[in-house]
Amino acid sequence: MTSIDLSDVPVVDNHCHAIEAVQRTGVAEWRALFTESPDAGMRSLEVADTAFYRRLTRSLEGFYGVRGEEEVVRARARRSTAELVGELFRDANIRGVVIDTGYPAPENAMDVREFTEASGAEYVALLRLEVAFQELVVASSSFEELVERVRDLVGDVRGSGFAGFKSIAAYRTGLAIERWSDADARASYADALAEVSATGSVRLGYKPLLDTLLHLAFEAAAEQELPVQFHIGYGDPDVDLRAASPLELRNILEEPAYRSMPVVLLHGCWPYFREGAYLSSVYANAYLDLSYAVPFISVAEMKSMTRAAMAVAPFSKLMYSSDGSRVPELSWIAARDGRRVIGSILGELVEDGDLGIDDARDAGERILRGNALRMYGFGSGERG
Ligand SMILES: [Zn+2]
Repeated sequence: MTSIDLSDVPVVDNHCHAIEAVQRTGVAEWRALFTESPDAGMRSLEVADTAFYRRLTRSLEGFYGVRGEEEVVRARARRSTAELVGELFRDANIRGVVIDTGYPAPENAMDVREFTEASGAEYVALLRLEVAFQELVVASSSFEELVERVRDLVGDVRGSGFAGFKSIAAYRTGLAIERWSDADARASYADALAEVSATGSVRLGYKPLLDTLLHLAFEAAAEQELPVQFHIGYGDPDVDLRAASPLELRNILEEPAYRSMPVVLLHGCWPYFREGAYLSSVYANAYLDLSYAVPFISVAEMKSMTRAAMAVAPFSKLMYSSDGSRVPELSWIAARDGRRVIGSILGELVEDGDLGIDDARDAGERILRGNALRMYGFGSGERG
């Protein structure tokens, strides 16, 4: 079986999250990091019986030179957070990261300077729209003021230090983002305000309001040619998976005014990966993120996702990521297995006569690094 060796290619991680400053040290806490289930039993017991968790443990036994789950947890507990990040990021040859700052909470995250020094990776950040909107709803005293503040927020995004937006509408009111009348948006704002008065904060589950604010952000993104990442598909059960298919984004993808806004469909859209591959093959501004640590799936299923993507999407539209968060091991295993999976699918394409060896190597480099470097303007401060 032909496989393209990509082990020397540095990766740019197109979608991931901050590492927590204080790493947890117990086996139960460690296990709970590798499931999206909120169920206590699933988090402490069943998770250990997944293909992903077993592979993670076996891989880390090799990395730390120990045997068994408990020893893995002990080996990492002996290191400081900076040491862990340094060893794992450098071993995985991660050259850049695109961080969604919305999770984990910034106060728990490792300091950015400390992270970039330890990891050696270049860092760009995305603004998580719904979190920012929620804060502005609480801070505003009228609908007009809210709209004004949102316009300010999205007015000069690169100038404010962000390389794009991230939306978790899939976790709130679904991806079928609509246009609402002014009256509907105001009524929805009144509902949100009622939640603020009752609880002091708001979770933006008010669809006409959230959709209206998202459109303000998308108009600004299109003007600034800013990428917008969308959570799609798999996540914790807060996501209604029925409303999180990428096909629900049709309104946004069909909108002529948004053609200059790159739309990045996250997590390979798993389990809707064929739908995601299709969209990135027909919409010029749709890109597919191929994520290799989250969802927590087997190597065979990562191959299926990658095979479906490469079957139809231009290689210029595919980008590698880990979706790692909180612990550096997720970034590490994604880079290691992502290179292997992409190399293996490229090998199949060569064997089948779809690609020559040089085409395959070039495609692998673009997916692992080149496409994201260009999209997020690493180094230059602008997209080029
Ligand atoms: Zn994520």
